[in-house]
Amino acid sequence: MKISNIPESGAKERVVIIGGGFAGLEMAKKISKKYYQVVLIDKNNYYQFQPLFYQVATAGLEPSSISYPLRKMFQNQKDFHVRMCEAKRIVPEEKKVETNIGYLTYDHLVIATGCDTNYFGNDSLKESTFALKSVSESLLIRNRLLLSLEEALSAKDKDEFGELFSFVVIGGGATGVELAGALADMKKGILPKDYPELDFKKMQIHLVDAAPRLLAAMSEKSSEKVKETLTHRGVTLHQGIHVEGYDKPFVKLSDGKQIRSRNVFWVAGVTPKMIPGIEETAYQRNRLLIDEYLKVKGYDTIYALGDAALLLTDETPKGHPQVAQVALQMAQRLAKNLNNRKKNRTQEPFNYKDKGSLATIGRNAAVADLGKFHFGGRIAWLLWLFVHIMSIVGMRNRVSVLVDWAWNYFNYDLSLRLFIRPKKSKMYQDEP
Ligand SMILES: Cc1cc2nc3c(=O)[nH]c(=O)nc-3n(C[C@H](O)[C@H](O)[C@H](O)COP(=O)(O)OP(=O)(O)OC[C@H]3O[C@@H](n4cnc5c(N)ncnc54)[C@H](O)[C@@H]3O)c2cc1C
Repeated sequence: MKISNIPESGAKERVVIIGGGFAGLEMAKKISKKYYQVVLIDKNNYYQFQPLFYQVATAGLEPSSISYPLRKMFQNQKDFHVRMCEAKRIVPEEKKVETNIGYLTYDHLVIATGCDTNYFGNDSLKESTFALKSVSESLLIRNRLLLSLEEALSAKDKDEFGELFSFVVIGGGATGVELAGALADMKKGILPKDYPELDFKKMQIHLVDAAPRLLAAMSEKSSEKVKETLTHRGVTLHQGIHVEGYDKPFVKLSDGKQIRSRNVFWVAGVTPKMIPGIEETAYQRNRLLIDEYLKVKGYDTIYALGDAALLLTDETPKGHPQVAQVALQMAQRLAKNLNNRKKNRTQEPFNYKDKGSLATIGRNAAVADLGKFHFGGRIAWLLWLFVHIMSIVGMRNRVSVLVDWAWNYFNYDLSLRLFIRPKKSKMYQDEP
């Protein structure tokens, strides 16, 4: 059965975009609706700004400040359609995408499905740790954090108290560093005010990373700065160590140590979300192999962008980093090429321009690698704030984030420490 209420595209070609994240959304904005009918599908009806998930998880921001309804973004656009559904299979021979609400035909298909958490085959970690790949997972972490503190107040013995008062972040990339830094800020700032009965000198924050240095994708200078700042803020670092398993409440480390904790946050790896139907030969390193025109290997009208795509060049023998800038620039290139096709202009290959990397470690502390310049401290932090404010979608969201950040900064307070538990409802059991 066809997805209903999407009119035939007529003389225009139809572009179907799977995924309304950084790449899919940019593509949807930049492709000309004068030349193409565009259908954007996503399993959520909103866009999520992933770089600030950790702030939702640590009660610094509301989920609605970093999410934006897809429909609102494209109001009043002709020949543009949004459907909340999950792509289940691609049938290239019939130029068709099957979803949980019906199928859809395409002339051009853009796969921008992003990544999921990678547990490297360790099921015990998948089942018992908390991930940070969606707004809802951010809320689960926030709830776990707040619940642990509430339960610590009535812990029956020292062991139980230790488990509840210990927080383990696994993964020393930007997300792990930011999460550990935010926990350290909470320990020093707001939590002792909220829980005067608890002795916060006993609260433990561990950061475990298999790589020999934190933020391995950034410069050595930035890694060193991050290490120094986190250590100074009371985070215990376990570097060059991997987690072998989690047998609740014991996190087992490769150096033989065990950490007792009920709060284990897994931010150590990502794996692309793949949709069946594409030939196996089109995959490498679990990502879709694309050429410089962003076409999936072996397919003429299927493209892949962002985290899901792998473009191997002399400069990028392992592919581009899975970051927002790559996703945005790929989408801009593809939209321009498809628009140019209709104007009989030449197609240009994708050429990534690295604008630099930033990561924050918490209040007044961040690191920046901008070309040859590597710096840290308050200037890097202010730059980080500015870049993130400017990248958030929607004026209301920008203002709301700015107000929350200003409030938190001047009052040493996070206003969102609410433990809201969803009530189970049969009404939503069919959601994708
Ligand atoms: C916690 C976290 C922090 C990060 N911090 C930074 C940072 O500070 N700076 C930076 O540059 N990058 C950061 N990243 C990486 C950055 O967010 C990604 O590189 C970027 O989101 C990739 O864009 P994308 O469009 O490929 O995928 P995404 O933005 O992940 O979008 C994929 C979309 O596809 C949808 N989707 C997936 N499968 C289906 C399906 N089968 N059917 C329908 N819809 C589907 C999803 O719902 C989602 O909306 C961070 C990532 C995370 C998780």
